[in-house]
Amino acid sequence: MKYAVIDRGDTLSQSLAEQFHQLAAERGFEREDAEPDIVISIGGDGTMLQAFHNYVHRVSKVAFVGIHTGHLGFYADWKVNELEELVSMMAASEPIIVRYPLAEIEVETPTEKLQYYALNEFTLKGADATLVVQMNVNDEPFEMFRGDGIVISTPSGSTAYNKSVGGSIVHPSIESLQIAEIASINNRVYRTLGSSFLLPRHHHCDIISKKEQRLVLAIDHVSIQRSDIKSIRCSVSPHKVNFARYRPFPFWNRVRDAFIDM
Ligand code: NAP
Repeated sequence: MKYAVIDRGDTLSQSLAEQFHQLAAERGFEREDAEPDIVISIGGDGTMLQAFHNYVHRVSKVAFVGIHTGHLGFYADWKVNELEELVSMMAASEPIIVRYPLAEIEVETPTEKLQYYALNEFTLKGADATLVVQMNVNDEPFEMFRGDGIVISTPSGSTAYNKSVGGSIVHPSIESLQIAEIASINNRVYRTLGSSFLLPRHHHCDIISKKEQRLVLAIDHVSIQRSDIKSIRCSVSPHKVNFARYRPFPFWNRVRDAFIDM
């Protein structure tokens, strides 16, 4: 088995990464940072976002496993004291591969088209003033948005930023994108739905810049700023992310453990 490890960079996560390499060597696993089959993320959900983006160029060929060194995560189920058990299971059994939907955007500027993938979400905000954009759904005008921003989340990202802005939690078996507002202004000129909504896999939405504005586009944990964005097309990606499950990790148990039985 070819594997790579990404850790959060703190002392505990780094020392667990070292322990993992030792245990993996004893089992004959091959360390392969460039083209791994399995990527072990050690840290939190934020570390899994980094691991995903490190390997997004070969997303269909890798499967991710998360070890959490803080609180139980949405992407990280293995605990610090379960490292040996995980390596034994990796050596002894084939995992079940669970596939989650990703969000895809195409950003259009006067000179180029840029494509990005998100595991959690894309967030669009104005850098200097409120964001002013027109939103079209399936090429039909839908609403004129003015406000702090828009969050376009995947089902597995629905428990992250999307939840903080009042969006619903969506099971990752539902291939969809959720579009949620951040503090929209509603008056005679700008009128928005006021609640989040879900787009199915075969629909798309275009966000069209309606003034000269510097935009902040966050792709999961990474933000970029640009003044030349004309429009952004958002859809459910045809690609999915693979998670290697060596034991069950039910989504609704994670929701309960993160938000209810704290
Ligand atoms: P961060 O600001 O250091 O951490 C954001 C928090 O979100 C962390 O506690 C992280 O968990 C948690 N998180 C990440 N993905 C999650 C998921 N799918 N479900 C539930 N919680 C999740 O930033 P970061 O670690 O680089 O993560 C970037 C993420 O932060 C973005 O994708 C966005 O979802 C989130 N964010 C949230 C808000 C908000 O809720 N107001 C604002 C900005 C960004 P860990 O501690 O396990 O890493």
